Order: sequence, then structure tokens, then C-alpha cells
Amino acid sequence: MEEKNRALPANSIADSDWLSNVWNIKTAEKIKVFLWKSLHDALPVGEQFGIRNIHVSTLCARCNAEETVSHLLFTCPFAVSVWKLAPFPQVINSAVFNSTLEGWEHVKKIHTLPPIGLGLGTLAAWIVWSLWIARNQLLFEKRKFTPEETISKAISGAREWILSQPPKSPAIMNPLIRPEPTPNYSARCSIYTDAAWNSTTGCAGLGWIIDDRNSSSQHTATSTFVSSPLMAETLAVSTAMTFALLHGIDFISLFSDSQILIKTLNRQEKNLCDIYHLFLSFKSVKFVFIPRAANVRADSIAKQALWVLNQS
Ligand SMILES: [Zn+2]
Repeated sequence: MEEKNRALPANSIADSDWLSNVWNIKTAEKIKVFLWKSLHDALPVGEQFGIRNIHVSTLCARCNAEETVSHLLFTCPFAVSVWKLAPFPQVINSAVFNSTLEGWEHVKKIHTLPPIGLGLGTLAAWIVWSLWIARNQLLFEKRKFTPEETISKAISGAREWILSQPPKSPAIMNPLIRPEPTPNYSARCSIYTDAAWNSTTGCAGLGWIIDDRNSSSQHTATSTFVSSPLMAETLAVSTAMTFALLHGIDFISLFSDSQILIKTLNRQEKNLCDIYHLFLSFKSVKFVFIPRAANVRADSIAKQALWVLNQS
């Protein structure tokens, strides 16, 4: 035990937190290792060269400040611009973070805006990774990426990675898409979504019900830092769509009782570009408005999920 504690950095976090901070983040293994090194201040950045008396520049190649891990990933003006572009419900001002740990613990908890609908920390992990890659390409290959290019690489990296993952729980998947010996992939599934939102806490419960010809299953998720009921409804849709894709369901009718959202989705508006990209991964998606009264099942599980979150 003693030994372990000594190995932790000055701004150390408890052993158990490494699970939530690094190892349980849904991202590529290489990025988990990168995160672990970042949080241990163990990346080969300028500061480390200075500490070890290696005679190379210890300054940031972009702004000439001392290059520390937290500078590179959060407080460098370049990193600040990249975080500001991230599709999160609130704008991140990464300039205020005092350490890599403080920055990471903040950003890993923020949900991505639809249509990305990635799990907590997934996009944030790809953003820090993209910042690292952009830094190395500038330093070693003299290739300069803009903040816009850097964020879009992070988003596409996260999206491609998540779509390449095998379905998480075959137990749920089986009754859904393999109701008979010969799978019938052409059958359209109906997905009913709803959200419950608490204006005081900014927490949301998300619920979705997947019905196919032979079975029905219900699923919930929760989200924090949700800024409006519309955002909550949007999260419910994008989370349900991501879930469906991860379970091999790509032929769907998606129902919501938010008329504004369904109208927006059917117009394929740019501000929902994330859902739009998700949409492209389906064989077919129909977005359909249904009155509240017809959506009581999804409504009640969303409320339950929010209730459970509020108790914790
Ligand atoms: Zn800098």
C-alpha cells in the first residue's frame, strides 16, 4: 500500500478514482494509457526536458509559455480554442483549470451534444488525444492544424471508434434483432424516447423503449449539466440512436413527444449535425412525433431514471 501511494503524483487521486478517471472511460486503450500518463505528469513535454536537464526547448511551440501537461491540454490558448469548439452543452473555458487533474475531472463529466451521444468522457478523451497529436505534428513534422481541424479529428475519431466496438450486451441484443433462426434485419424497430428534466439540478433522466415485431425492451440513462428540456429530449434521442447502432439495429422509426425536436430533426438542421451524422449510419430512420399520451411508457421510465439519479 505504502509503495502505491508513493508512486502517485503530487496532485494524487485515490486508487479507486483511476477507474473512473481513466480505465472505465469508453475510449481506445492507447488513449487510456495516454490519459494515465497525462495525469501522472509523465508525458515527454518541455517541462520534463527541463527537469531532466535535456537541452531542448521547454517552451510551448505555439505560445512560448512553459510547456507543461496542463498547459498543453488545457491552458494553452490553442487548447482553449479547441475546448471552446467542443460540442458540449456549455462552453468550456479550459484556461481556468489549475491542473491536468482538475481539467480532466471537469471535462470527463460533460455529455456531448447530440447527435454524438457518446458516453461520458469519450469525446473529452479524444480531444486531449487530438491536442497531443496536433502538438507532435507541429513539433516534429511542422504541420500546423487549426483548432477547428483538431476538434473535428477528435469527433470523427470518437465516432469511428464507438461504431467499431462490438455490441456491449448480446443478452439484450438477442431478443431484439434475432427473434428467429434467420435474422430478419429488414424489420423496422420502433423506438420511443422521452426525457425528464430537473431545472434546479440540470439533471436529466433519459428513457427509450425498443419494440420490434416480437419483443419489447426498455432502457434508461442519465445526464448531468443539461441546460434545457429540449436538450434533454435531444439527448434521449441521440442516446437511443447510439444504443440502437451499438446493438446492430439500423432500421428504425424513432418517436418523441417533442414536436420542436422532431421538426428540427426532419429538417436536418445544422445545429443538430451530430444526430445527423449518427443518422447517416442507419439504413433508415424515420423521426415521428407522437402525443404525450401515446408516449407514457418512455415518459415513466425517464422519470424513474431521474428519480433514481436524484436519490444518489
Ligand atoms: Zn502554448
